[in-house]
Amino acid sequence: MKKSEKIWMDGEFVNWNEAKVHVLTHALHYGSSVFEGIRCYNTIKGPAVFRLDEHVKRLFDSCKIYRMELNYTEKEIKEAILDTIRENRLKSCYIRPLVFRGYGEMGVNPLNNPLHVMIAVWEWGRYLGEEALEKGIKVKTSSWSRMAPNTYPFLAKAGGNYLNSQLAKIEAVLDGYDEAVMLDTDGYVAEGSGENIFVIKDDVIYTPPTYNAILKGITRDFVIKIARKMGYTVREERIPREMLYIADELFFVGTAAEITPIKEIDHYKIRENKITRKIQDKFFEVINRCDPEYMTKV
Ligand code: PMP
Repeated sequence: MKKSEKIWMDGEFVNWNEAKVHVLTHALHYGSSVFEGIRCYNTIKGPAVFRLDEHVKRLFDSCKIYRMELNYTEKEIKEAILDTIRENRLKSCYIRPLVFRGYGEMGVNPLNNPLHVMIAVWEWGRYLGEEALEKGIKVKTSSWSRMAPNTYPFLAKAGGNYLNSQLAKIEAVLDGYDEAVMLDTDGYVAEGSGENIFVIKDDVIYTPPTYNAILKGITRDFVIKIARKMGYTVREERIPREMLYIADELFFVGTAAEITPIKEIDHYKIRENKITRKIQDKFFEVINRCDPEYMTKV
């Protein structure tokens, strides 16, 4: 990864190479962390962050689910994010706020361990490769399912959840694919290892509902809104696996993946991407012209 200069740690800027924790940090042993992934874009009005309010709100929701009581308000975290971008003098970057249980006691009960917050920013290009946005990617249905209800809360963006994502991603990459599609424990389509999924069939756009073991993605929400504004019918409903094989178009969305067309799934070819392309164009148009409904200037 490309290093920046400073990382915000518990209210202070620390040099990138000195932003360290103790090896007995609770989160390292038990996955007790929650985080966000946010992007800042270089727009025609200068650097601006896509949907900052929504991301910080989700971070606080994740904290609430895990009973992590932050000593900061949402406003303070938003300011700290903007300050960290300014401090590193970046025009566009990926933003990673992380809340984690630190060093103190050892054992599963996390409640007596100190809570830490850090915010790192760095330049990060296309998550799924330079050609992905243009040409699309190859995916496979994972042999790993997303977590079952009442096991790990999928509405929390928690570090531990990404063990499940890693198993799927590793399997996909070792098998020669770019990314995995995961099903829920009933066998319905859920999402990618770090992306939500959309399916287009006969000009109707489908995406799995929140209860299908997905992270409630902020890009997903944007795509639903914008596609409806563009006049498309968007349905949040359960999607059987085979619907992916007969789809006219398929695409992933997420902060890192942006809007990425899928060109092949389990060796079934997906030949079209007309509507995907229109949504992708709209997404970058909103960002580039720094639409105040979605963008916060740095
Ligand atoms: N699902 C998972 C599992 C993710 O990690 C992400 C990335 N945060 C998404 C979906 C997409 O969410 P967002 O659009 O909020 O980045």
